[in-house]
Amino acid sequence: MQSSEKLDLKSLIRSIPDYPKRGIIFRDITSLISHADGFKQSIRDLSAPYLDKGIEKIVGIEARGFIFGGAMADYLGVGFVPIRKQGKLPGKVVAQDYSLEYGTDRIEMHDDAVASGEKVLLVDDLIATGGTAVAACELLQSVGGQVEGAAFVIDLPDLGGVSLLKERGIDVHTLVA
Ligand code: AMP
Repeated sequence: MQSSEKLDLKSLIRSIPDYPKRGIIFRDITSLISHADGFKQSIRDLSAPYLDKGIEKIVGIEARGFIFGGAMADYLGVGFVPIRKQGKLPGKVVAQDYSLEYGTDRIEMHDDAVASGEKVLLVDDLIATGGTAVAACELLQSVGGQVEGAAFVIDLPDLGGVSLLKERGIDVHTLVA
């Protein structure tokens, strides 16, 4: 059923304690995206600040950034570019390493996916420490991409990711904290 009433998106996000390990509260967006009006509203609300910003591509971070980013690309009428974990993309890639609590990880993007000077919007479901998003911005900037902003459904403010992006001059838009 579709309605024009504003929903409380936070109430549609399920919290699962001790996943994927003890002490972590996993914010599960599957309960939001399975709700037709909730999903639709999240796409519209995430896209709203960017309607007139001349965004040329949405860049989504694997995996849940593909769900929101893909729908936003359709809504904004622009292309979609995936940033993936190491070894998943078939073509020639550019890569960025970043630190995790223990060790490092690597994200990749096709080297011709974003042109120099192209205006892009980064999208993921959630920002925590900001490590993934900062690495994604560095990857985009390494090919000359102009990161116009970064949009996330959920912000975990205690972990500081939004501040980290803002310190790097990236405009950030989030829906629930
Ligand atoms: P970070 O790099 O620390 O900002 O972590 C962000 C990435 O990890 C995003 O792709 C999220 O989907 C995922 N993530 C981190 N913490 C959580 C959490 N508590 N619940 C769900 N996803 C999380």
